[in-house]
Amino acid sequence: MSASTDSGARWDVVVIGGGNAGLVAALSARRHVPRVLVLERAPAAMRGGNTRHTRNIRCVHESADAYNSGAYPFDELWRDLCGVGTGPSNEKLAELTVRESETVPQWMSDHGIRWQPPLAGTLHLGRTNRFFLGGGKALVNSYHRTAARTGITVAYDTTVEDLRIEDDRCTAVITGSGEIRARAVVCASGGFEANIAWLRRYWGAAADNYVIRGSRDNDGRVLAALYAHGADRAGEERGFHAVAVDARSPRFDGGIATRLDSIPFGIVLNRDGRRFYDEGEEIWPKRYAIWGRNIAGQPGQIAYSLWDAKVRRLFLPPMYGPVRADTVAELAGRLGLDQRSVTESVSAFNRAVTPGGTFDPTLLDGCATRGISPPKSNWAQPLDTPPYFGIAMRPGITFTYMGVAVTDRGRVLRTDGTVFANVLAAGEIMSGNILSTGYLAGFGLTIGSVWGRIAGTEAARQALESDDPW
Ligand SMILES: Cc1cc2nc3c(=O)[nH]c(=O)nc-3n(C[C@H](O)[C@H](O)[C@H](O)COP(=O)(O)OP(=O)(O)OC[C@H]3O[C@@H](n4cnc5c(N)ncnc54)[C@H](O)[C@@H]3O)c2cc1C
Repeated sequence: MSASTDSGARWDVVVIGGGNAGLVAALSARRHVPRVLVLERAPAAMRGGNTRHTRNIRCVHESADAYNSGAYPFDELWRDLCGVGTGPSNEKLAELTVRESETVPQWMSDHGIRWQPPLAGTLHLGRTNRFFLGGGKALVNSYHRTAARTGITVAYDTTVEDLRIEDDRCTAVITGSGEIRARAVVCASGGFEANIAWLRRYWGAAADNYVIRGSRDNDGRVLAALYAHGADRAGEERGFHAVAVDARSPRFDGGIATRLDSIPFGIVLNRDGRRFYDEGEEIWPKRYAIWGRNIAGQPGQIAYSLWDAKVRRLFLPPMYGPVRADTVAELAGRLGLDQRSVTESVSAFNRAVTPGGTFDPTLLDGCATRGISPPKSNWAQPLDTPPYFGIAMRPGITFTYMGVAVTDRGRVLRTDGTVFANVLAAGEIMSGNILSTGYLAGFGLTIGSVWGRIAGTEAARQALESDDPW
């Protein structure tokens, strides 16, 4: 046990988890109270959870600047959020998140984050999302530098196993190496996506075919502890953000590089060689996050993206390289698919492409199919120009939505309708209050930043009001 976590130490605020939400909460708490401790399960070299993999954040802004190409007012972000999946799960908290997002970029700058103009291949997000310089690792490092400067203590290699709850108060955080006393606790330990056994409860054996894009540390153990102590649930148990990733990705922590963005430019087949979903339904930033779920619903949780030479330079190339062939039949064989089914599907698709129209990948171009199910509503072009390319895809789970229910001050609610006196939550662990089934690119960090500030500030307030004698 280290000096910072030994049983004699007393903390105003203990934050569980050192990702975006946890670090924002710690920095926010530290403005008001002196003794703030972050408990991070990972070693220092792997700190930052899923936040390590991020690149951009989506916030309201009223005008263009050096990092956003145009305005993105409240009403538009709100509409966008309502338009994904079945809309926000708690409208009041979702609206608060959108409103508070407007001050987040300046807050981030004030705490050490630097920005960069969007690069090519970034899902057309230049107007709505801000990209931080150096990606998620730089963001985490910057926050840690600010945390160190302001006297926040971080304990690495420290796994929180449980909370000691007496009546409605958390009196200690229980780690593998002892108990830590705190006046208030912020739970910011992410979702439970890395816990395959937990995913299996809702998805059955299909979960064994899921790739987990982020940290293997996010196994939901703090979430489970909160439920065991009576915390109320927010969000759907099968709610998650999932994209199409290369089937050759590592099981955990493959990050952004294994995502595949080829889907709108060609067609997608299941293992029977059949199309099953409109590949051109909407612009990619609004649809990339449904493809993990689409693939999860297919036999064997696998699907294949096929495209031809015409479009090969229009998206980021797959990290491990695609399979390539001179004919569709040969491509099918190399992908291990039935050649006849695949050539039939490609021919049927090619015949259904409506002639005319101007292919334009930057907008909904209306180049569509006719008389085929499912349709392709935009960017439909025949696959007719060799060489042909293909790649096997798996559901890549980014994070789960089901978490704990919170109040508008980030306090964790209990199933009996009361709140814990000094337990707060921020980030993925409470994202189910905001997200139901859909997702908007860059909104995970928005949730963590807004609620990290709220929970950290509220935790400090509770610490200051605490009558704990020490
Ligand atoms: C590949 C990838 C790309 C992404 N890109 C973006 C993007 O560009 N923009 C965006 O907005 N979102 C993006 N996301 C989603 C984003 O990562 C999350 O929404 C956000 O980082 C969540 O922050 P968090 O602090 O809640 O969780 P995390 O950042 O995951 O932090 C949780 C922390 O808790 C720690 N922890 C877990 N359990 C315990 C325990 N028992 N005890 C102690 N510590 C524990 C973990 O080690 C981790 O450090 C991406 C996710 C992935 C996987």
